[in-house]
Parts: sequence; C-alpha cells; structure tokens
Amino acid sequence: MRIFTASLATETNTFSPMYTDLVSFYQSFYAPPGQHPATPTLCSAPLVACREYAELNKTVEVIEGSCAWAEPGGLLNRLSYEHLRDEILQQLSAAMPVQVVLIGLHGAMVAQGYDDCEGDLLSRIRAIVGPTAIVGATLDPHSHLTDLRLASANLLIAFKEFPHLDFMARSRELVQLAVAAARGDIRPVMSCFDCRMIDVLPTSHEPMKSFIEKICLLEQQQRALSISVIHGFMAGDVPDMGSKLLVITNNDAEKGAALAQQLGLELFSYRGQTLPQFYDISAALDQAQSLSGTVVLADVWDNPGGGVAGDGTLVLHQVIKRQLQQVAVGTIWDPMAVKLCFAAGEGAEIELRFGGKSCATAGEPIDKLVTVVRLQAEAQQQFADSLVPMGDCALIRFNGIEVILNSNRCQSFDPSLFRALGMEPKEYKLLLIKSTNHFYQGFAPLASHIIYVDAGAPYPSDPKRNGYKKLSRPIWPIVAEPFA
Ligand SMILES: [Zn+2]
Repeated sequence: MRIFTASLATETNTFSPMYTDLVSFYQSFYAPPGQHPATPTLCSAPLVACREYAELNKTVEVIEGSCAWAEPGGLLNRLSYEHLRDEILQQLSAAMPVQVVLIGLHGAMVAQGYDDCEGDLLSRIRAIVGPTAIVGATLDPHSHLTDLRLASANLLIAFKEFPHLDFMARSRELVQLAVAAARGDIRPVMSCFDCRMIDVLPTSHEPMKSFIEKICLLEQQQRALSISVIHGFMAGDVPDMGSKLLVITNNDAEKGAALAQQLGLELFSYRGQTLPQFYDISAALDQAQSLSGTVVLADVWDNPGGGVAGDGTLVLHQVIKRQLQQVAVGTIWDPMAVKLCFAAGEGAEIELRFGGKSCATAGEPIDKLVTVVRLQAEAQQQFADSLVPMGDCALIRFNGIEVILNSNRCQSFDPSLFRALGMEPKEYKLLLIKSTNHFYQGFAPLASHIIYVDAGAPYPSDPKRNGYKKLSRPIWPIVAEPFA
C-alpha cells in the first residue's frame, strides 16, 4: 500500500493586519520532501505518524510531500497559497498510484479569493486520486468545517484537546483508520451537525474537560470510529464559521447523524459557560500584587496564535505605572528592536522604542533606557513534542522588569521560552505571557496562581461586534436563539 502525506496549514485571522505570504511559511516551518525533522509540528504530525506506521508495517510505503506552516496571521496572499498548493498537488501526481492520501491541515486558512482553502485543496486531491482512494486529514479544532471538505475527504479528525497536546495521538488514529479503510476492513462515513454557536472552548477546564472525556469513552465503546468537536474560529469571516460536531461511523450515516446531533446540542447547552474567569487589567494586577509565589498573567487577546501581532503593550504599560518588580515578559514581537539590540551588543545600555507598532488598538510603543542583557540567535521554545522557532531574541532589562523581544511571531506555549534566554521563570514574581490557553499545561506546574487578563484588544473577541460579512447562517451569540 502506498500512502502520500504532506501538510499545508495556517490559521487566518481575516481581521488582522499581519498579512501572510510565502515568507511567513518559510520563516515558521517549511520542509520539502524527505527533509521533515523527526520531531512533529502541530499540523505536520500525520507525516511523522506515517513514518512510524511504515517502520512497523513493511507492507506500507510512504511517499513524503512538502510540509508548510505559517504562524497564524492575516489574509494569505493568493499567489503564495496557489504556489504551496500546486507544489503538493504536483508531488501527489508524480507519486501516483497511491491508495491513501493523508494531509496535515489546520482548517482555518483563508487566502485572497479562497474562503475555503482546505476544501479547495482536498477537492483537487480527490480529482487526482479518484473516488476509491482514501483521503484523510487532521484538523485543528479552531477551524471551519465546510461541505466541500466533507464531500472530498473520507476521514477528518480534529485535535480533541485545547491546548492541542494530543496532535500525535490524533495523527496516529488517522493513519490506522485510513489503512483499515484502504484495506476494506471499515467503510468510514462522516456525519456533521451544525451547532450554530461560536465560543472559546478550553478543555483544561469544565465543562469541556468532562465533555471530551465523555467523547473519548464513546469512542472506546465503539459507538463511532472517531468523534471531533470543531470549535470554530471567530476571527475568520467565512460562511461556515462556527462550532460543528463531526462523527465518523463504520458505514452508518443514520446513527452518526443522531450522535452528532445529540452531542452537538449538548455542546450548545454549554455556550457562554466554558471560559475561566477573565479580569480587566486593573483587577488582574490588583490580584497579582496581593498573591505570593510566581503569578502567571496571560494576556489572552494579544495572542499571536490567534493571528494578531503579539506586540501589544496595554498590560505592560500598567505594570510599569505600578512600578512592579521581578517581572518577566515573554514575549513582545519587535524584529526592529531586536536588530537594534543585536547591533548594540550584550551589556549595552541603549534608548529603545519597542512594542505597540502593528495596530492602533494594542497600546502605544514603550520608550526606555534599557540594558541589553542577553542575545540569542534562532531561539526556540517547546510545545509538547514539537519545537517552536522564536527567531533571533533579545532580553532587555529596565526598572526591575525584563522583556524578551522576539523576531518570529509566536505565542507563549511553555516556560522553556524564558529558559531559552537564560532565565529561570520560578525566580520571578510575575510572568506576563501572551496566550489564550495553550500555555496552561506548561505553566500550571510552576505557577502559584494563573490569572487570565482580558485587555479588550487587539483580537476580535466579541462576535456580536465583529461585523461578519460572509457568515451564512444565524449563530449564537450574534443571535440569541439560532435554532428558532
Ligand atoms: Zn487551535
């Protein structure tokens, strides 16, 4: 059996000014055929899972295509998308005949002229391999599930956890099910229910924690081959934006549809109750000042993982105003300031303007006399089994505050981002990071307290105010009773 595998993924915030192009992929992650490292990335995990499978099952031959990932950002340049898409399609054509195609997708990629890039890619793959080959993909739950994707693929499996720490487990499932389907042992049929809602659904907290446990149990009891919760991605203005429940059965569409509806309506009943408490900046800092140990302050809406710049200063300005000490900030994206720090050198004292340059809502730049404490070329942080490039980084210090400036946009996944600059995160009273929830598993063990800060910008976090132009159906909370 011949399996072709490749990956093309990014998450597009159509409201963001951080436009995405080929360079964004080459900077974040790009591996041509045969050059993917042994460690998986979030979205290219199917390739690593295919290698593992072929190692143990000599009857399977894996043909590797290109893998590309760009840090979430704004609208993808049309030519860049078509270039990467056609590269993979040409590799697939050259690899024919194949019985299975497995693609690592994100599922919220939007390019100029393409509201549904993944549907476009999957349908072109189907056209090449014909109706009988098995086409499967992994998805990030922060994606948009369209009819074109459902019609073009046999197997779509989303990460269950948010933080998405289960990406390798889901990729291994995809390979197993795809091989079984290609052998004729199973006949996967996908059933989808539109939950008509959009919300943020961390599975590290209740009620989503128990909901996902219940779904895993249903899979163990073989009520379905696979069950995925598509959370949706509210920063993508596309027709299908919103949560969906996807059930894959062994050739039982009726049972699948009933289960998808039952679970989908259960998810709908949790709307508005899934987030931990978010505090405004003032309340969050009041609380942080009253607590002992290492307090983690997560700036949830200046998260580059949601496609914004990650150079916001709204919280840091207030930290400076309150003269807080032993503060570490990881990170603020500012490639220009990093360049200046590298030019000045370690130990230099310089007048530096940093942060607050990418948009009007994320706070003013900060001007300080700073010490360049440490410079690190090509710094990396960890996220589960994968390594995330932070680019060249500079650690600066002023008034008892230390700030990591990075040149590759990336969210704060893990305390290793501080260690990459020689810092020990436990030694600080306050860690200010930028992440909605992916940070949670990494930081919880060292944090005395975790506080979620809602600074109100720059991510479009209120669906009622986002002014979607392409959304095709009523969804909560824009409409109170979307099923009425
Ligand atoms: Zn996600």
